[in-house]
Amino acid sequence: MSLTVLMNAGPWLSVPPPGYGGIENVVATLVPELRRLGVRVVLASVGSSTLPVDEKFSVFDDGQFAALQRPYNQVCGVSQAHLAGVVRQLHGRDDVDLVHDHVEAVGLATLAAMGPDAPPVLHTLHWDLAKHPELYGTLDGGARVRVNGVSAAQLARAPRALREHAVGHVHLATPLAVHADRAPRPVKGDHTVILGRINPGKGQDVGARLARRTGVPLVLAGPVGPYHRPADLAAAGDGARQNPDVRFFYDEVAPHVDGDLVRWVGTVAGRERDDLLAGARAALFPLRWEEPGGTAVVESLALGTPVVATARGCLPELVDHGRTGLLTDDEDELGELLLAARRLDPDECRREAAARFTPAVMAQRYVALYETVRAAARVP
Ligand code: UDP
Repeated sequence: MSLTVLMNAGPWLSVPPPGYGGIENVVATLVPELRRLGVRVVLASVGSSTLPVDEKFSVFDDGQFAALQRPYNQVCGVSQAHLAGVVRQLHGRDDVDLVHDHVEAVGLATLAAMGPDAPPVLHTLHWDLAKHPELYGTLDGGARVRVNGVSAAQLARAPRALREHAVGHVHLATPLAVHADRAPRPVKGDHTVILGRINPGKGQDVGARLARRTGVPLVLAGPVGPYHRPADLAAAGDGARQNPDVRFFYDEVAPHVDGDLVRWVGTVAGRERDDLLAGARAALFPLRWEEPGGTAVVESLALGTPVVATARGCLPELVDHGRTGLLTDDEDELGELLLAARRLDPDECRREAAARFTPAVMAQRYVALYETVRAAARVP
């Protein structure tokens, strides 16, 4: 296949990300499979990205993640500088067949404004946009700009301007799903894990109270705002409380963290993350937001760990209730489900992941969408 895709991963973190990293994880999972299918990939990212690609360029040497904590106009300044770099590239060459854009509204609007000579754009939505219609406004760019969701539920909640440009959804994937059905069975401990950013939407406070009520040990893994290690957060002092996730952690979660029944281990990566998740009796998602894509959900299944969750956002699409996990609309029921999850078969989870959530499945689906987007752009 002779197709050149400019993959815009944005300026926030390197690809693959050093630990936590939603969009960057998706790009790192997708790109090697696209290249295996013969797609040429030009990566727009930061200089420290190490993902093998055919070509890459950057505006910033390193990830600008810390800038996300600054005032909104400075955040926009970073993403606009990055986008200006993308636009410069596109003006200087005619071999890019399509832009696969993962950056927020600023990026999409800029690309759309480039005029009819710019390549068509597929923009992947990564966020729950129901409460943020202002982020996109009216989508410019006519037939050249299309969007896809990471779940049907996410797309259904997106503002109308986006839904009108939608070409479908593609579930998230994980390299852990490759041959997951053939890997040795994990040895299970007694603990549960919540893997994700510490944030009210992810519900770590609900999980911590649940651990107290059920006596099932809980490990919380993930960053609190920009702080990846408990020692970094402690060293940051009171000023760190300006960050809403830090306030949430101190006010709602930390009172339950006793280092024994409930532990916060900070960001985990690589083998440490996989062992923690594979050894858990269940992966807990006591969500308070409509989870748009749930990478951590498919990772849990791939590692043979059943999912116990509130049935919000993409969860019912990813988890087969009664087979690969247990879902409920009622937060109070999560405790019983946690105890019942022990009866679920890890092999069912791994089989499901190997069939549905591999990078190859995701890449094939994106290649089909690229064709749809290019065909739409050709229609006058
Ligand atoms: N993650 C990680 N270490 C952590 C916490 C999270 O590697 O301590 C990874 C996690 O495995 C997943 C991603 O960060 O790949 C989070 O993506 P997800 O879609 O679950 O949540 P988001 O933060 O994008 O809403």
